[in-house]
This record gives sequence, C-alpha cells and structure tokens, in this order.
Amino acid sequence: MATEISDMSRSEPLKAGVFGTNLEQAKEHNLRAVIDALRRHGALTRAEITRATALSVQTISNLVAELEQRGLLIAGEPQKAKRGQPAKPYFLNPEGGYSIGIQMDHQLVLAKLVNMAGVECLEIQKSISRPSPEEGLEIFAEMVEQLLAKTRVDSGKVFGVGIAIPGPYGISGPTGVGPGWVDFPIEQRLGEKIGLPVRVENDANAAAIAERLHGEGKKFDTFLYVFIGMGLGAGLFLNGQIYHGVRGAAGEIGHIIVEPEGRLCDCGNRGCLERYVSLCAAYEAIGETQEKHRSPEQLEKLLDQKDPAFMGWLTEAAEKLRRGIHALESIFDPEVIFIGGLLPPKITRALVDMLIPPLPSVVSQLKPQEERILLGISAPSAPAQGAASVPIFYEFNIERQSVSQAASQSLSRKVLGSS
Ligand SMILES: [Zn+2]
Repeated sequence: MATEISDMSRSEPLKAGVFGTNLEQAKEHNLRAVIDALRRHGALTRAEITRATALSVQTISNLVAELEQRGLLIAGEPQKAKRGQPAKPYFLNPEGGYSIGIQMDHQLVLAKLVNMAGVECLEIQKSISRPSPEEGLEIFAEMVEQLLAKTRVDSGKVFGVGIAIPGPYGISGPTGVGPGWVDFPIEQRLGEKIGLPVRVENDANAAAIAERLHGEGKKFDTFLYVFIGMGLGAGLFLNGQIYHGVRGAAGEIGHIIVEPEGRLCDCGNRGCLERYVSLCAAYEAIGETQEKHRSPEQLEKLLDQKDPAFMGWLTEAAEKLRRGIHALESIFDPEVIFIGGLLPPKITRALVDMLIPPLPSVVSQLKPQEERILLGISAPSAPAQGAASVPIFYEFNIERQSVSQAASQSLSRKVLGSS
C-alpha cells in the first residue's frame, strides 16, 4: 500500500492549491490593497481607504505612513469635510516607480519608459530584420540602458521590463518575429543581463493589461480586449486577472472559424477570423503587397479618402468580427468587449461604429447595445504601452501575491525595501 502511494505521488505531481498567508505576506497584501484602491479611485482620504479596503483604522494609518515613507503615496492639501476635521487626500505618486516596455515585431523594436501612472517619459526605436534571439537580447539590453541613461531614472526605482511579442500561434509565419524565438528563455536571460525582472506577454495580453491599468478597462473586472494586429488576438480579463490558459494560448481568437468555406489560413483551416480582421487582411484587400509601403498611416489616409477597396475591407471585417464577438460573449459573458490594437484610433472607431448593434447574444437582455462594445487602446505603439504596464500590473496585483513567491519577493525587495 505504502509503495502504491509513493508511486502515485511520483507519477502525479502535486498541484498547487490555495496558498496560506503568513503575517509578512498579509502586510504586503494589505499594502497592495491600499495601492489598488487609490489606483481605481484616484485620491482618497484615510477614512475612505479604510472603507474601500475593509481594514481597521489603525492598520490603514500604519500602511499609509509606510507607503508615504517609501515615496509611493503623496498627501494632498486637507479638504474641508461636511463633518469633523478636514482630511488629507492621498494619491499615488506617479514618480514613485517606473517601468519599461518593449514592443517587437520582425522589423522594429520600440521601447519606452513610463512612470507609475503610465505616462511616457521617453520612447526610442530601432530598425531590425528578423534578429535571432541572441541578437534580440543584445538589442533589448542596449535599449534599456539607453532609456535609463537618457531619463536619468535610477534602475532601483524600475519595477521591471515587459516585452510584448506577437502571439505564439504561427510564430514563424508572417506575424512572427523571426526564427528561434519559441522556447528561448528571454525572461531569464535578459533579466540576468540587466538585473531587472523581465516578463513576456503576447501583444494582446500586454495591451489588455494597459487597458485595465490606465484605460477605460479600469472600470471593469471582467472584460475582453480584442487586439487587431498583423494577426488577431484577445486579452481575457476574468475577475480582475488576466487569463493565460494552460499553454499560454488563451485568447488566440484569430483562428475562430467564421466562414466554413472561407479563405485559407496558415493554420490549415479555412475562414479563420484573422483572415478578415487584421492588418494583413487590410493590406491584402487594398492590394499592397510591398511590405515597406505598408503602414497604419497609409490605411488612415485611405479611410479619409473613403477608398472603395479599403471601405470594402472595413465592412467585411465588421461583419466577420460581429460573428466572433457573438462567440466571445456566449463563452465569457463579459461586462464589455474593447476593440483595440495597432490601428490608428480613427479606423478602430469606424470599425466599432459598424459593429453596433452586435448580434443578439446572452448579453443582449442585460446591456444596452452601445455599451457592449467600446473603443479600447488603439495605436501603432499599443503593445509597447501594454508591455510597460506589465511589470506594474504584476507588482501590485493582489491575487497574484498569494500564489507567487517571485512576485512577492520582487515587491518586498524592490519597492517596500524589506528583505
Ligand atoms: Zn487559422
């Protein structure tokens, strides 16, 4: 019997359950809760923070003092209250910490340094041509160094580096960055090289995290963010957490089949959504075969001119995306779906307008049509903005703290200063 049990334990690795919390972790959790409340609401008095976090008055008093001492909170001028003493509002210090985001495709690397509020301090870029991972590593390290040197930000105040790369599906195809990147331990290798935590997300997840931290997504815990890039993906925010799936491929919605006998896709199927809704599909529709002439700005000009080929693409993209959205609403029952990505906001806005009213779905009875689909973060540099949000998100993510030793160590070491 005993042998049988030990055999079982060898063949079945122990799955992580709900982790317990020791006192030190509880304090970190509470510090994050205060930061989270301020991030969502802007300025709050201590009494308001106490109500928002359901912690005791004394605990909040201690936590606020600690965060203020660490430079993460700033106290404003006391505001006159209806009753009692004027109370000081507290808000997050945008200069309390920084983060670096790197966006990469096969021809360009874009890197930006942002402050804690997501405001860009500096952006730099470098042309590349399908670099190997080793070459990429050198380029990233050099760009991080440049950003820190030019902004004179102390690396001790940087939460980390986020990297956004196109989704894993079809990595060697036209949406990929180059050969050899699959399974290359870029987080570990770059982290060792620059001495900062590094985290990779696909471009859709990274942009969804930016939407959650700095965009309209702040208002919602469960939303989907559809990322229109060279391909098509989505970031899934479920109950305030980004959902990666078992293999990190959750949200690869570009390969939902919306037209059974439709266009052939690299994945081997016909009629995949991204064959209609993507920058690749738009360039194909306007007959732009030369990669060097392709740009989001070119598409914006065509929209302004109401170019028939471009408008034809937009109309068809809206029709197909409406089917995709119907599937997403049926599966996830989200509060809202954002449409964003690499397109200039003007084009995404036009697309969103064409998506309304969406097809009837489970969400129909609960929400007015125009509140189901919203314009999300949409810009050619959206992944870099997203990548820069990634370290901040994980640094202060409450749920994550209880299950990830790495995240909690990172917080205590870098920001809170404890060991
Ligand atoms: Zn496909």
